[in-house]
Amino acid sequence: MRAGFLFIISSPSGGGKSTILRELLRRDPSLYYSISCTTRPPRAGEEDGRHYFFLPVSEFRRRIRRGELLEWALVHGNYYGTPKRFIDEKTAAGRVVLLDIDVQGAAKIRRRRADAVSLFLRPPSLKELEARLRRRRDTRGSIGTRLKNARRELARAGEYDYCVVNDRLKPAVAQAEAIVLAELLRVGRRSGKI
Ligand code: 5GP
Repeated sequence: MRAGFLFIISSPSGGGKSTILRELLRRDPSLYYSISCTTRPPRAGEEDGRHYFFLPVSEFRRRIRRGELLEWALVHGNYYGTPKRFIDEKTAAGRVVLLDIDVQGAAKIRRRRADAVSLFLRPPSLKELEARLRRRRDTRGSIGTRLKNARRELARAGEYDYCVVNDRLKPAVAQAEAIVLAELLRVGRRSGKI
């Protein structure tokens, strides 16, 4: 059996990560999505168990203590973490699991999992990112703070295996799909060496 792997996607807020993830999952039903736990409150339209597992801080800390999270991080003042069991089960069954996590989480997983493949999704420019954030006009903190965070995250793009510029959706999705396919075809995955 072919070995599964983790496919991490990170990008600054407004980088278009959720749209790309949604498209990848729609086009290839064999892919799985790792639903993170978070202590932040749900936004309008978000469902528990679909977008996130929304947890009180006490429960989140209990899961850390019990070693139930592969990684966790404090992002914009809230806890976020990746449940371990789901990932272990799916990758052991040869599946590809997509993860939407920030640069800190990606770095931790790279250290812990040899089968992690990571993609940084870059906005075409900071100017375009700012324009997207202004169009979105939601409650995720001030645009200034998010641009500052974006600069910090962009500086770490070099830690990733791949980088895709999300200028237009279609080519960006096609490039991300090509990465998944190429990784699946690596000889080591068939022989179980990766
Ligand atoms: P949001 O609250 O906008 O959904 O996500 C905020 C940030 O948290 C995003 O950069 C997202 O990638 C990151 N994030 C979501 N889930 C996890 C997780 O399980 N671990 C880590 N480290 N970051 C996460």
